[in-house]
Amino acid sequence: MRTVLVLGSTGSVGTQTLDLIRANPDKFKLVGISGNSNAELLASQKIEFSLPDDVVAVGPEKAAELAASIGADVVVNGITGSAGLAATLASLKAGSRLALANKESLIVGGSLVTDIAGQGQIQPVDSEHSAIAQCLLSGGPSEVSKLILTASGGPFRNWTRQQLANVTPEQALKHPTWTMGKVITTNSATMVNKGLEVIEAHLLFGVPFDQIAVTVHRQSIVHSMVEFHDGSVIAQASEPDMKLAIGYAMGWPERLSGSTRPLDFTKVQSWDFEPLDEDVFTAVKLARQVGKAGLTFPAVYNAANEEAVEAFHNGKLSFLGITDTIEAVLDMHSAEVLSLDGVLAAETWARQAANSLIAKR
Ligand code: MG
Repeated sequence: MRTVLVLGSTGSVGTQTLDLIRANPDKFKLVGISGNSNAELLASQKIEFSLPDDVVAVGPEKAAELAASIGADVVVNGITGSAGLAATLASLKAGSRLALANKESLIVGGSLVTDIAGQGQIQPVDSEHSAIAQCLLSGGPSEVSKLILTASGGPFRNWTRQQLANVTPEQALKHPTWTMGKVITTNSATMVNKGLEVIEAHLLFGVPFDQIAVTVHRQSIVHSMVEFHDGSVIAQASEPDMKLAIGYAMGWPERLSGSTRPLDFTKVQSWDFEPLDEDVFTAVKLARQVGKAGLTFPAVYNAANEEAVEAFHNGKLSFLGITDTIEAVLDMHSAEVLSLDGVLAAETWARQAANSLIAKR
């Protein structure tokens, strides 16, 4: 029986994690939860799982304290945004296995996170990275020639920059295959999410940025692939259901039986792959530069994006203005040393810089 702490338990990943715990009472025991924006749901989860008051945290700071004090076997970090960094660091220091849905904490923390993580201690709860982890079982590190991340292309696949100029928040929230929160759905539409995932892949698997490719696959069935040096490509395929990646991370190194329904090959399947136009969706190209530059640049990329997404949903910024703002803020940034304080300072600076640029537009 593994004890599980679920941070961000009222969000999309959090509620699906609780579904898996409900379905596997012999394998997992919920020992704590945290939430921020949905007090009603948090209260009902507390009652359902008979949790005492002191293991129910509100807000990311209390969540990090809980991760440090509870020492759960598995911490599922489903907090949204870079506010999850403290909880990520606390979970790793407490020796818990970290099922990481909060990719931002890895991206902004960089080596601060990877340096304290033991072998296999971070298990990605991101469908692409879960896929890559599974594909990497097919060969040794020196045999890998390329990681190929798939992208659904979001709602604006094949659109031109002229078409993208007039996109509304409502259109950006209509993701064709995945159901997710507001920020990540918008990030999928701008491809900022894929940019963040390129950096995430580099940090998780240690593969150089020039060997991490992105391909558009609109069905979201092949979740990513690994190319080996003999020319073989290994792909991981399943229904677009986050429960597979969550269950794989929670059960690792064993697979969790029945996490999702298998693909039905008695029905016609067609899987398309097409190149991503990185000149239209500039976020991926920008992320590779940011990832190579390292230091506090990834934190600035992420923080500027979070402010720009908020402004877009408040009608203060156009859709294309999101990546334009990130690029302009990055141009103004001079690198800080990588420390926790440096990351927090760079983020604060980037948020102010983004908002003053947005106000001037
Ligand atoms: Mg993903």
